Amino acid sequence: MEIHHKEFKQRRDTLMARMKDGIAVIPTAPEVFRNRDSHYPYRFDSYFYYLTGFTEPESVLVLIAGQESKSILFCRDKDVEREIWDGFRYGAEAAKTEFGFDQTYSISQIDTVLPQLMANQSTIFYSLGADVAWDTRVTQWLNTVKMQTRAGVSAPDTVVDVRQYLDAMRLIKSPLEIDLMRQSAEIAAQAHNRAMQKVVAGKMEYEIEAEFLHEFYRKGAQAPAYTSIVAGGANACTLHYNANNGVLNAGDLLLIDAGCELHGYASDITRTFPVSGRFSGPQKTLYEIVLSAQLAAIEAAQPGHHWNAPHEAALDVLVQGFVDEKLCKGSKEEVLETASYRQFYMHRTGHWLGLDVHDAGEYKSKAGDWAILEAGNTLTVEPGCYVRPAEGVPEHFWNIGIRIEDDVLITPTGNDVLTRSAIKSVADIEAQMQRS
Ligand code: CA
Repeated sequence: MEIHHKEFKQRRDTLMARMKDGIAVIPTAPEVFRNRDSHYPYRFDSYFYYLTGFTEPESVLVLIAGQESKSILFCRDKDVEREIWDGFRYGAEAAKTEFGFDQTYSISQIDTVLPQLMANQSTIFYSLGADVAWDTRVTQWLNTVKMQTRAGVSAPDTVVDVRQYLDAMRLIKSPLEIDLMRQSAEIAAQAHNRAMQKVVAGKMEYEIEAEFLHEFYRKGAQAPAYTSIVAGGANACTLHYNANNGVLNAGDLLLIDAGCELHGYASDITRTFPVSGRFSGPQKTLYEIVLSAQLAAIEAAQPGHHWNAPHEAALDVLVQGFVDEKLCKGSKEEVLETASYRQFYMHRTGHWLGLDVHDAGEYKSKAGDWAILEAGNTLTVEPGCYVRPAEGVPEHFWNIGIRIEDDVLITPTGNDVLTRSAIKSVADIEAQMQRS
């Protein structure tokens, strides 16, 4: 189920109430050429989409806050000739009724209409610096207004970054958003489970990537949420590996970080499992450490806890494991103190998740305090362990790279793992991969 237009209208009303007074200008993303006449698959801007549900390029949302608040959309014209080539367009008239805007205009009118809308407004709410081309256009409209000051028109004199309001709103997911995230998570979880059955030594990493694309599209997702990482053996120790062109070797682990996008909402899952279906002793040892760290981190993702609590919980378990297995020297306290664990665990334990894979929202307050987790937050929990060959590092762990990542919703009483159907215990993985 897609989000109903009423909810998008509610969000616009909430934003206008928070703006109090002034004009907001929120353009969507441009189409981008891949080469010559061919575009990259189009993806709308997340802020724009969050407020409109409108997915066509060349669109701009304008909000006027104050006593006579109004939401206005500029969009492409209805164009039968272009639609024969490129597909359906709403056009201004249908967009107004279908999406519940107060006014709509053709995008071709924006240079004339926007300076009129800006006239006599005190503040512009706009994400200055996000896009140079838009900065230039907004400046031109402002200059057009300023040229009319002798006619008694006043120009806005303050620019406020509209993202600070939207980031705060986007941090708390609505029931409909949570529903979509749950579906997105389930598609990706099933794709991971299926991949475990498709992996055979001798296959190429890209063959497994193709299995994910197959599952994502077949289940109705519009796109992968990001380029899948399919990393066999030592490739898993390259954190953002996405060449995906290596051969899968018997005896190696395979790390897959892949998620899909459903009606704008991302899932983001990592699973690590043995190519041949059974963990070796050292692989199992490290896997169990990472899994325990992940379970501890999920346990720490609770309403009222601060953002860093899951990371601290994961580190506590990981570092103890690193000490026990002689990856790190010294006591747990010393390793935490000197951060020598960073040789094997160099990233953080999660990020906000939503319309963007690394979703909008602050992690710290302006005063420098960690954000406090609240019901409706969605985040990833993803500890890992990556052992590159080096002197003094036990050789039986060399080239093992493991990450386990789930998507977690904070609820009023605890949390809900949206990706829980993706298999992750050693026993479940080995059972899933059992070869007849
Ligand atoms: Ca990920």
